[in-house]
Amino acid sequence: MTRIVYVNGAYKRYAEAAIHAEDRGFQFADAVYEVIEVLGGRLVDATRHLARLNRSLSELGIPRPMSDQALQHVIGETIRRNRVTGGIVYIQVTRGAGPRDFTLPAPEILPTVVILARSQRRGWAATLAEKGIAVKTMPDNRWGRCDIKTVMLLPAVLAKDAARREGAREVWFIDSSGAITEGASSNAWIVTAQGTLVTRQLDSHILPGITRATVTDVARAERLKVEERPFTLDEAIKAREAFLTSATNTVMPVIAIDGHSIGEGRPGPVVQRLRSRFHHVAEISTV
Ligand code: PMP
Repeated sequence: MTRIVYVNGAYKRYAEAAIHAEDRGFQFADAVYEVIEVLGGRLVDATRHLARLNRSLSELGIPRPMSDQALQHVIGETIRRNRVTGGIVYIQVTRGAGPRDFTLPAPEILPTVVILARSQRRGWAATLAEKGIAVKTMPDNRWGRCDIKTVMLLPAVLAKDAARREGAREVWFIDSSGAITEGASSNAWIVTAQGTLVTRQLDSHILPGITRATVTDVARAERLKVEERPFTLDEAIKAREAFLTSATNTVMPVIAIDGHSIGEGRPGPVVQRLRSRFHHVAEISTV
């Protein structure tokens, strides 16, 4: 449970943490965010996450609310005040508050910053990963700049809800050419019969996942071949293994896609190896 929330320079009690009614994040989803894993009270891959946050801000022309060093400080303080040792920290930056207007406000407007830290039950993801999860495919109906990590998440929310009702924990979106883009809140991967890892190339249709980048490092260290290219649903169903990556799941085996079982229908050796090596390769930093 989050007890203390950082809002615009102050640490507020959860029930009292609030933003302005005319915040542009609230009215226009004019905001970006990051989710960073907290492990042993330390941050996993903070450098990459903060670099992506800065890129998202710059793509939208939202000024940086503070330096990386200051941001790391308030992130660390929020983690400590919530006594989170294992869990996640959520950082959201909006363009700020002002009278509702589609025209962008003057750059002097101060961005809104919210930071939450939340404990996650130990072993929660590990238990899921022992069995693996099912995913369901759906048409990718999101906007054309999925490379920016905005809070405009309604298509993902609705798709995930529909998938849950059919017993799947994640959605894999499919583009108009029949290729899988990514998950609703994760990147999608397969392992071919030759043992090659395949994940879609970085472009405006997917988020450049930080876990995806680190898993690429893990694969390199394990001398596994990685191909960044589109893959179809048919190729995924015939794959030897499949998995997804995200900061909250790290590496999660996918054992069924649209009801078709993948490989032997249980987590395979490649995904298990990548999962077990992940935190040995990721950057773990104190804050
Ligand atoms: N794609 C989407 C659409 C996501 O929302 C996420 C999680 N935020 C990811 C991929 C995975 O990114 P990361 O590894 O940085 O958590």
